[in-house]
Amino acid sequence: MAAETLDAVIVGAGFSGLYMLHKLRGQGLSVRAYEAGAGVGGTWFWNRYPGARVDIESQEYSYTFDDGLADEWEWSERYASQPELLRYLNHVADRFDLRKDIQLETRVESAAFDESANRWRIVTDTGDDISAKFVVMATGCLSVPQELNFEGAERFKGESYRTSSWPHEGVDFTGKRVGVIGTGSSAIQSIPEIARQAAHVTVFQRTPNYSVPAHNGPTTKEQLADWRANRKRYREEAMAQGFGVRQIDGQERMALDATPEERAAAYEDRWARGGFSLGGAFADIVLNKEANDTAAEFVAGKIRQIVKDPATAEKLTPKTYPLFTKRLCVDTGYYDTFNRENVSLVDVSADPIQNVTPDGLRTKEKEFSFDAIVYAIGFDAMTGALNKIDIAGRGGVKLKDAWAEGPRTHLGLMTAGFPNMFIVTGPGSPSVLCNMALAIEQHVEWIADCIAYMGARQIGAIEATAAAQDAWVAHVNEVANMTLYPQANSWYLGANIPGKPRVFMPYIGGFPLYKQACDAAASADYEGFALTRS
Ligand code: FAD
Ligand code: NAP
Repeated sequence: MAAETLDAVIVGAGFSGLYMLHKLRGQGLSVRAYEAGAGVGGTWFWNRYPGARVDIESQEYSYTFDDGLADEWEWSERYASQPELLRYLNHVADRFDLRKDIQLETRVESAAFDESANRWRIVTDTGDDISAKFVVMATGCLSVPQELNFEGAERFKGESYRTSSWPHEGVDFTGKRVGVIGTGSSAIQSIPEIARQAAHVTVFQRTPNYSVPAHNGPTTKEQLADWRANRKRYREEAMAQGFGVRQIDGQERMALDATPEERAAAYEDRWARGGFSLGGAFADIVLNKEANDTAAEFVAGKIRQIVKDPATAEKLTPKTYPLFTKRLCVDTGYYDTFNRENVSLVDVSADPIQNVTPDGLRTKEKEFSFDAIVYAIGFDAMTGALNKIDIAGRGGVKLKDAWAEGPRTHLGLMTAGFPNMFIVTGPGSPSVLCNMALAIEQHVEWIADCIAYMGARQIGAIEATAAAQDAWVAHVNEVANMTLYPQANSWYLGANIPGKPRVFMPYIGGFPLYKQACDAAASADYEGFALTRS
C-alpha cells in the first residue's frame, strides 16, 4: 500500500511542470510536483554558464495563459539572460502560489501502473510512496547531460566545469588557461564570455556549428507597449509558423525560383534582423539540398568576412551537414571571438581527444595544459530523463524495453501500454524544433483538458491505442524523411549518444498541422486513445 494518495503527480518543475501544476490544481485535483533540483526553473535553474540566454525573442518565449502575468512582466532584453529567465519562473511559482505543492531535491525513481486500480505508484529517492491516478512527465527534453566519458577526467588537477550544471556562485577565469570541449549552442554562448576573462581559451571543435547573430539589446518602452497591445495576435501569428516562432516569418517562395541577387538580398535582410529569421527566407531550404546550399554558402561567406585568419574561418565553416538540420545557434560575438589573441581553435575531428591528463588533455598528436576545463558536450535528449526513471506500464512492461528501438508515442503525448501517463513535449511532438514555451503551453492545456474530460465522464483510464501510435510513428518518420534533417548526426536522431537507436525523435510536420491533429483527436472524443470507465 502506498503511503499517500493524490490525483496526480508531476515530475519536474521547469516551464512544463510549473504550468501543469497550476492547471491541474485549478481543476480541483490534488497534485504534487517533484523536482530533483534545489529550485524551480528546470533548464534555467541548471544551465548557469556565462552567456546563457534564450534563442527566441523573450516576448515570444513566455507564458501567455494569464493576462495579469503577461502585463506585469517586462523583459529587459530582446533575448533574456539565464538569471532573468530564472527570476521569471520563480516569479510564476510565487504569483500562483505553486511552491506549497512542489517538493524540491527529490528525484522520482520509479513509477509502476497498477492495472487493478488504474493508478500509478510513484516512489522517490527520499522515500515518498504515492498512489496517483495520473502521472505527468514534465522531465524535460534536455535535462540529462551526456555522460562524461573522457578517460582520466577525474584525475585532472585543475578545475572542471559542465555547462549543464554550472556552479551557482559563478566562476572567475581571470588569468587562467581554459580548455572548452564542444561547439554546440552552450559552448557558442559561453566561449565569448570566458574569452573576455581568461588568459587563454583553447576551443576543441569536433563538428563546427552554424551560428547567426542575435543582435541582442535592451527592450525599449515602445517595444514593451507594442507587445502588450498586440500580444494575442502575435501569439496567433507564432502558432501559424511551422516552428512556432513569429520572428521566423516564413515565406512561401522557393530559393531556387529566386535570382542570386534576390537570394542575397533576402539572406542579408534576415541576417540583419538576427536570430532564427534566416530560417524563414525561403520555403525549400530544409527540403532541397541545392536550395540549402545557397543559404549555407551565405553563412560561410559571413564567417569568412568576420574571422580574419582564413584557416580558422575554414575550420569554423560546417561542411558535413545541411544548414538548420541541427538547431541553429544564436550568438553574441562568437565568430569574432576567434580574432582575439587569447583564443585558439583545435580541430579534433581528425585528431580526437585521447584522454584528460592531470595537467590538461591530450589528442593523438598534441598535449595541452590547462587550469580549467569546460565540458559543453550536450545531452541525452528527449528520452534520457524518461529512461532514467524505472517506468513499468501494463503487464509490468518497462518503458525502456518498449522504446528499445526508439521512442514510440501517439502525438508525443502518450504511449501505448502506459495508461494515464502523459508526457509534456515528448518524442513525436514538435517540442525541440519549436519555441518550447509555446509547445509546452499547448501540451499542458491538451493534457489538462483530457483529464477534465475524463473526470466529467467517470473515465478511469486513457491510453494511446497501438494502431494510432503505429500510424503516428510512421507519419513522424515519413515527414522527417521528406526533409534534409536526417542527414545530420544530430541529437534529434540520438546520434550524440553511443548505442542510442538512430530515430528522428521530434515531429517536423510543423506546429499548425500538429496542433490540428491534437485538437482533432480531442474533439472526436479522444479518437486514437482507448478509454476505460472507472
Ligand atoms: P526542463 O526545464 O528541462 O525541466 C525538467 C525538470 O525535471 C528539471 O529541472 C529536472 O531536474 C526535472 N527532472 C527530470 N527528471 C526528474 C526526476 N526523475 N525526478 C524529479 N525531477 C526530475 N528552448 C527554447 O525554445 N528556446 C531556448 O532558447 C532554449 N534554450 C535552452 C538552453 C539550454 C542550455 C537548454 C539545455 C535548453 C534550452 N531550451 C530552449 C530547451 C528548454 O529545455 C525548454 O525551452 C524548456 O525550458 C523546457 O522546460 P521543461 O519544464 O519541459 O523541462
Ligand atoms: P550539443 O549541441 O549537443 O553540443 C555538444 C558539443 O559537444 C558538440 O559540439 C559535440 O560535437 C561536442 N562533443 C560531445 N562529445 C565530444 C567528444 N567526445 N569530443 C569532442 N567533442 C564532443 O549540446 P549543447 O550545446 O548543450 O546544446 C544542446 C541543445 O540545447 C541545443 O541544440 C539547443 O536546443 C539547446 N540550447 C539552446 C541554447 C540557446 O541558445 N538558448 C543554448 C544552449 C543549448 P559533435 O557535434 O561532433 O558531436
